Amino acid sequence: MDYERIKEKLSILADAAKYDVSCSSSGSKRKNTTKGLGDSSGMGICHSYTEDGRCVSLLKILLTNHCIFDCAYCVTRKSNDIKRAAFKVQEVVDLTIHFYRRNYIEGLFLSSGIFKDADYTMERLIQVAKKLRLEENFNGYIHLKSIPGASDELMREAGLYADRLSVNIEIPTKSGLKLLAPDKKHEDFIKPMEKVKNEIIQYKQESLFIKSTPKYAPAGQSTQMIVGASGESDRDIMYSANFFYKKYNMKRVYYSGYVPVAEDPRLPALNSKVPLLRENRLYQTDWLLRFYGFDIRELLNEQNLNLDLEVDPKLSWALRNRHLFPVNINRVEKQLLLRIPGIGLKSVNKIVQARKFRKLNWEHLSKIGIAMNRAKYFITCDSREFEVKEPSSEYLKNVILKTSSGKFRKETGTQLSLF
Ligand code: SF4
Repeated sequence: MDYERIKEKLSILADAAKYDVSCSSSGSKRKNTTKGLGDSSGMGICHSYTEDGRCVSLLKILLTNHCIFDCAYCVTRKSNDIKRAAFKVQEVVDLTIHFYRRNYIEGLFLSSGIFKDADYTMERLIQVAKKLRLEENFNGYIHLKSIPGASDELMREAGLYADRLSVNIEIPTKSGLKLLAPDKKHEDFIKPMEKVKNEIIQYKQESLFIKSTPKYAPAGQSTQMIVGASGESDRDIMYSANFFYKKYNMKRVYYSGYVPVAEDPRLPALNSKVPLLRENRLYQTDWLLRFYGFDIRELLNEQNLNLDLEVDPKLSWALRNRHLFPVNINRVEKQLLLRIPGIGLKSVNKIVQARKFRKLNWEHLSKIGIAMNRAKYFITCDSREFEVKEPSSEYLKNVILKTSSGKFRKETGTQLSLF
């Protein structure tokens, strides 16, 4: 093996892959039942993130950065004058196994530019996964990026070897896609997503009756959208995400702040900042939709096309709905408890449990770990100590901002925590 060449390929193709954030490895269970290598469990693979929030716990590479397409936002686009490289199938297999044995990685995230056409490229991605599973007996995590436009047959095969499949929609609206990626068609994303969704359902149903049914993409499918490349509002982005969650049973939608990679009048200027705070607010909104019972229209609508960057989306919603507050923490139903700013999912469950035994006071709530600087203005307890007298939401917002840490006040250069 020419190690120098492999090293060079690795540096080119790992660098090109860093723009894809859709590589979370959670949610897969693949036990090492034979004498094989690796084991990915539900808690599974640990994630680690680079400073700008990109996941690095998997061997994350492109099979090639050659591409026949010319998507304006992509560093791999054919018109970009960059060094090109391509791995052979066996090279990716060997790298994965070697890195795994050395404990560098816990799985593989494999994406690719488009070599010749969608099927030609997809076939090679599948060959990598198939060799790892069947020849190397590799039971670690595999995430394959599906190539838009790949045939149904290949999508079916891919899911038999990969834990997760993703088809990245990249641009949240059809009009944005037409503008920035004229070679791509909306249907090219939708068809593979539909196929994967149906196969997952079918294999799950079969497994109820036939024990030996193989697993099909057990960690489900995900997609990624680039934020801030094509002028979409947060409402456009989140309505698209909501559509993909509902229609295609997405496990996750990832939001990736656009990293300026090209001088192009259709795109933000090269020196524009990556919208990391906006990205973070979208992730928070995503969580509110999936775990807190919010309807998308409550958070983003005609009057609120974009999320407030100063405060988190739950606080922003509560400030717009002051008539629902304050609520008595000892009596309020769980549905509304989940909507109180500063109270997360875990705290809600603790409160529900604890109040079965006694009336909670401020001290109890503090101990439970709720963010009192926000929550106290929206709840009552045994005392009226914090009851809000200020009628104006704008005033209250300012009070909260003054007593909050810097993360609510200014955009920072690093990824923020979700809550
Ligand atoms: S098809 Fe994919 S890899 Fe090729 S230019 Fe478009 S986004 Fe980049």
